[in-house]
Amino acid sequence: MSYQDKVKILYKDQLKDWSLFADNRKGLNNAKLRTFSFDGFDIDIQYNPKRITSSAAKVDAKTILERKCFLCKANRPDVQTEVMWGDNYEILVNPFPIFKEHFTISNVSHIDQQIETEFVNFISLSKDLPETVLFYNAPKCGASAPDHLHFQAGNLDFLPIEKNWKTIKTKYGKNIKGYDGVEVMAVDDTLRRYIVLEGGNKEALNKVFQKIHKFSEELENGEAPMLNLLSYFADGKHRVFVFIRGLHRPWQFSAKGDENILLSPASVDMGGAMITPLEKDFNKITKKDITDIFHQISVSKENFNKLLKIL
Ligand SMILES: [Zn+2]
Repeated sequence: MSYQDKVKILYKDQLKDWSLFADNRKGLNNAKLRTFSFDGFDIDIQYNPKRITSSAAKVDAKTILERKCFLCKANRPDVQTEVMWGDNYEILVNPFPIFKEHFTISNVSHIDQQIETEFVNFISLSKDLPETVLFYNAPKCGASAPDHLHFQAGNLDFLPIEKNWKTIKTKYGKNIKGYDGVEVMAVDDTLRRYIVLEGGNKEALNKVFQKIHKFSEELENGEAPMLNLLSYFADGKHRVFVFIRGLHRPWQFSAKGDENILLSPASVDMGGAMITPLEKDFNKITKKDITDIFHQISVSKENFNKLLKIL
């Protein structure tokens, strides 16, 4: 049986057996959505109150050390079951879904979140779960378990960046160079700056990715790179979106009073589905706010140009 079929069964079984997950999944059917149109692509805003824990999560070293890791099997509820992927990864349903089908793919060991050595596994998973988009949040920009290596996956046909990719590519994509059959594109779509890698050869993709990783690590003076990744397998090729972040949380996150917007952007938000756990933010957010937030959290033009020279 394929992994995709196995996880479909897992999802069905968990809906039957795990009431907390079933309730949260049901709540998603009533999730409110607003769509803002930009030139060539959309940005969706999803009002999702169940995501408050994740969006407002404290991820400082002290808090992380003192809490019980929710990805370690020993701390997970007995009702939560898994599908093994190889020897080292467990595919689990995400009990606080954003996507109609939302998974967490957790390493069997409690080891730090990082992508440097895991990129090939990450894109291999995409090939084994071809109906999903895989995503990776680095420790300092979106991972709510920065101390436990994990990815997430959600069903295709949800993220605007994936749905709008053909238009974005034509309108904003600049081919920079081909490496062993890997197409490398630089995109500045007026909101976000990012690199898109396309190709069938995993090792060749990894070679290009490592250059971006190294560059991003240097920007953080040797600390964990601020990266968000999206990946899916389509038309016989891997497609990987690499976002280098300039900032984790925009100023609006900690603003007082009317200016406050509780939005803690991670891969899904970079992909154009911004999650607001509070209704006041969902109602008041404007196109101007969205533009301002993306400009703050994306890599600066200066650093992006430096990266393009290296690639
Ligand atoms: Zn853990």
